[in-house]
Amino acid sequence: MSRLVSKLALLSVLSLIFLLISCDGAKNAQNAKSIEFFAMDTFISIKAYGENAENALNLAKQEVLRIESMFSVTDENSEIYQLNQKKSLELSAEVVDLIAKSNQISQATNGAFDISVYPLVKLYGFTQSDYRVPSDAEIAQMLDFVGYQDIIINGNAVTLAENMSIDLGAIAKGYCADKVAEVLQKNGVNSAIISLGGNIRLLGDKNGEEFSIAVRDPINEQGYIGSINTKNCAVVTSGAYQRYFEENGVKYHHIINSQTGRCADSGLISVTVICADSAVADAVATAFFVAGADFAKQYCAENDDISAVLVDDDNCVSVVGNVDFEPIDNSAYTYITQK
Ligand code: AMP
Ligand code: MG
Repeated sequence: MSRLVSKLALLSVLSLIFLLISCDGAKNAQNAKSIEFFAMDTFISIKAYGENAENALNLAKQEVLRIESMFSVTDENSEIYQLNQKKSLELSAEVVDLIAKSNQISQATNGAFDISVYPLVKLYGFTQSDYRVPSDAEIAQMLDFVGYQDIIINGNAVTLAENMSIDLGAIAKGYCADKVAEVLQKNGVNSAIISLGGNIRLLGDKNGEEFSIAVRDPINEQGYIGSINTKNCAVVTSGAYQRYFEENGVKYHHIINSQTGRCADSGLISVTVICADSAVADAVATAFFVAGADFAKQYCAENDDISAVLVDDDNCVSVVGNVDFEPIDNSAYTYITQK
């Protein structure tokens, strides 16, 4: 628990520093307003530019809290919590839509992304911050309850198979970032940086230019491997370093391979996905982390709206697709670009 809290505290400080140093044009800084708070189990920071920023930011925070209250797996009043309890329930159209979108991404990624992996996430104690390494028998038993194909959607009614439960934690922050961007825009903001943990969503541009988003070094977390220049889209990172515990010198992180029931072990240690749709970026980043570099490269080749920066455990950074990525100077990594 204390490790998790200290990691989140570190993340929050780093996120703040990052936002302050990397995204502020001198002219824009004068009318920039920001808001920081903790929700959706992560540190949230939203920075908006222009004269309508203050009011829009307050509404943006309400939007985050609204979405958290629908998708939380621990809040007894949330729709997802209730569905996990009752196994069959009429849900709001918004929740049903995100479950349906999740299932589509599961299908497209051969189950690498699978919201029904939740019993395993719980088994490792990631939900309750009560970490432990499960036995082979426990993993085998929980694997029987995993499989997105058994999530049945009929109108607004969603039914799970017996013992199944779902967690939209790998897509909900991305979805939320898109909704926040919508709220900001509706309330007169055309330029903003929305950061929900590893999820960045850019609204518009910065004074007519692209934002520069630093990509964290997954090994040396105080450092960066480079930056992505882009605008009006999402830049979402899934990494082994974001949430993990250690036992007997082995690190157990929070992204689970739904085939093996064990922590994903594809050789990738960090995946950043760039895509206009932030929910897709979030889900696909998790999927690439599970499925590995070859799958990710193939997927980007087949979907030209998706690009990625992949860091593997052999100190190699692959920049895949149509992305403007600038490596840092004197990096310990080898960089490969693949259009
Ligand atoms: P992310 O940080 O977006 O990669 O999401 C990781 C979170 O999603 C974990 O903390 C789990 O709650 C959940 N999760 C873990 N493995 C998977 C998976 N293979 N597919 C979907 N969700 C997952
Ligand atoms: Mg994700």
